[in-house]
Amino acid sequence: MNFKDNFSYFKNNSKEIYFDSAATAIKFDKVIKAQSYYDLKIGANTHNNLFDNAYKANQMVSETRSKIAKFIGIDDKNEIIFTSGTTHSLNQLAFGMRNYLKKNDEILLTKLEHSSNLLPWMVLAQEESLKIDYLDLDENFLIDISKLKNKITTKTKIISFAMNSNTTAGLNDVVAIVKEIRKLNKKIIIILDLAQSIKHNKINIKELEVDCIAFSTHKIYGPFGLGILWARKEVLEFLKPIFYGGGNNISISTNTYKLASIPDKFEAGTLNLSAIYAFNVCLDILEELTLEKMIAYEEELKKYFRAKVKDIDHKKFEFYNLENDQPIVLFNMKNVNSQDFGSFLNKKYNISVRVGKHCSRLANELFKVSSTIRASFSIYNTKEDIDKFIEALKDCDNWINEIL
Ligand code: PMP
Repeated sequence: MNFKDNFSYFKNNSKEIYFDSAATAIKFDKVIKAQSYYDLKIGANTHNNLFDNAYKANQMVSETRSKIAKFIGIDDKNEIIFTSGTTHSLNQLAFGMRNYLKKNDEILLTKLEHSSNLLPWMVLAQEESLKIDYLDLDENFLIDISKLKNKITTKTKIISFAMNSNTTAGLNDVVAIVKEIRKLNKKIIIILDLAQSIKHNKINIKELEVDCIAFSTHKIYGPFGLGILWARKEVLEFLKPIFYGGGNNISISTNTYKLASIPDKFEAGTLNLSAIYAFNVCLDILEELTLEKMIAYEEELKKYFRAKVKDIDHKKFEFYNLENDQPIVLFNMKNVNSQDFGSFLNKKYNISVRVGKHCSRLANELFKVSSTIRASFSIYNTKEDIDKFIEALKDCDNWINEIL
């Protein structure tokens, strides 16, 4: 299967080797077309059924909610909330819990979390005198299940972590983690950041048994500016919205108001309708190509990289996550500034990587370096791209002369 044919981006950027899919995935052509189709042909806003296209808009939102529910394995489509992205979803969860959490309650995170799963909790903790602590990780930077008991107490109210980190990409065993958490304290609300996982793992909420999830559609070949928040109905019932306005109330009098029920309660204002339509189309494409085949292809690329990288001089490099099948390679060249290395990869080989802390500002503490280079692969990359990458790594001695 040639997945690349679905992405004209690569015809427009024929020389580029795009290895930054963990930051954002290139969009399917049909997603890009769907987004403008909505604006050209339907155009209308929701919450009104008076004319044809307004009716279509409502139907489209409802149908997309159903498709997303099916995609992540839940029964009630009204538990799907549209947001602007993972960051918005996680902020909604954190600040919506303000009244639920009491002074000295504990929130557990990991040091690998993205800023979007750190800062909302840190700010809330500061404002409400809550405590934050970090779960122990094992030697592969995965949550150490045997050590959960050292952190979880009766005060622990929230545990929020990424299924796959955006740096090491390591895949946490969510089922086993959740089982152990529930054994230690049944009342904890477990939140899963799926920003990285959504395109590389088949998600079934019923199997994972978490309470809330967050992801962005742009990470799975879909549109920018759209995110999903799912939470169990009981959580959505007590969670307070962070935005108020049109569409999220059913009555307002001079001194009182009544909020709408879910999902409208969390969707004040106009939704990103063209993006929702485009994501609807995106889900059809994922079903057609099958996520399973896409995942298998990404793993094949990582395995290919792992086999080929044996040929390079390992004394010169530090790799942080070669052991896993997730399509990210995190590394550094010893004694060479990662920014310089990243620029040379780009200038000499047209390889687009990301360099820095990758918005996981505590993670570098774990790697004991201030910055790393992240190459992330996806379904439109090829083995030839990997060969070029390996060639570039082998060529490093020549670069060093240019860099230093
Ligand atoms: N969490 C993780 C693990 C991520 O990788 C990202 C995006 N890099 C985010 C959260 C934030 O996603 P967004 O910027 O789409 O809100």
